[in-house]
Amino acid sequence: MKITRIDCHVLLVPEFSTEACSSAQDNLVVEIHTDVGISGIGETDVNPWIARACIQARGTHIMGLGLEEMLLGEDPLQPEAIWQKLYSGSKMNGRRGALICALGAIDMALWDIKGKALGLPIYKLLGGAVKDSITPYASLLPTGDTLQEYRDSLLDKLLQARGFGFKAAKLEICINGPYTHNALQEHDDHIAEIVADCRAAVGNGMTLMVDVAYAWGDARTALRVIDQLLPYDLFFLETPINIDDLAGYAFIVDHSPIRIAAGEWQNTHFEFIDLAMHGKLDVLQPDIGRVGGFTEARKVAQLAADQGRLIVPHCWKTGIGIAASAHLGFATACCPFIEYLPVHLSESALRDELVADELQMIDGEIPLPQKPGLGIELNREALEKYRV
Ligand SMILES: [Mg+2]
Repeated sequence: MKITRIDCHVLLVPEFSTEACSSAQDNLVVEIHTDVGISGIGETDVNPWIARACIQARGTHIMGLGLEEMLLGEDPLQPEAIWQKLYSGSKMNGRRGALICALGAIDMALWDIKGKALGLPIYKLLGGAVKDSITPYASLLPTGDTLQEYRDSLLDKLLQARGFGFKAAKLEICINGPYTHNALQEHDDHIAEIVADCRAAVGNGMTLMVDVAYAWGDARTALRVIDQLLPYDLFFLETPINIDDLAGYAFIVDHSPIRIAAGEWQNTHFEFIDLAMHGKLDVLQPDIGRVGGFTEARKVAQLAADQGRLIVPHCWKTGIGIAASAHLGFATACCPFIEYLPVHLSESALRDELVADELQMIDGEIPLPQKPGLGIELNREALEKYRV
């Protein structure tokens, strides 16, 4: 089998806003075609024009070859060998950052092809299912221009998520720091107040996590708020401080009774080695596209297993990435949850429309799919509608 063509679809919702927090407004979808008529799909969570350029740019020397040029003619049934070739051949331009995100979409599509060619779902290619289902947690990003509106929106979405059957939810409480919603800058004490309201609303039966999106400038400030959050039984607190302050993360982990999670931005398993070794993170959050595809994500899963940590894959895109996270989760014992944007609560038409037959959630669980590859198909109408 040979790779004959790579299509890169840059997608954007028409009402996108650079003021918005959500990266679900855009997408780069990669389709890889073969000489036997099998095609694979991948997506990645990075600026789609940059990712497309990373794939299509021509190479000029042996340390800076083009991804598309290196891919054409290769046997897609060897995704790991191809990953090494593309990583090595693009190293002077790549290694980390957007090129690895683009390589992740390619790798996802190659595993999809391999599954389809062998008639097997990807979790079987990753070693096989170690569980019958995976639990998606609802990722909830509120709307609103004031603290009160933000709190009310979050509570409303949480109750709706519980109504849809979700057993777990993550509260995006981004009300101060560099990535706040609608430029809110509120006192830290409001974070615990909002968490208290949410816990009271759903009781003790639902798992809750909190993401503060790198809110604090230093570890001690984070620990002060973590102390306030202790009564509310949080499963983890995500990205309290700057992701490049790994000594700060280690300090927080050493002093926090609540698990600390990070990794949504990390590229390659090498960055997760740093995160685990120097940052001491309890919960590693590889995004399958951004980390470099299944080829890299499974190494992160192994790292977590070896060191007694958890992985909870990040996913803020569509049913493509959700399927990828689910397949990794089925094959990984130390993966208790995957991130999931509920269609009706995400305000992204791409999340809603791009995949025609996404993996279904039943009673708060995604059961093992039986279709080969990722097990999903693109909605061609949506692909045309949002292509720019
Ligand atoms: Mg996050």
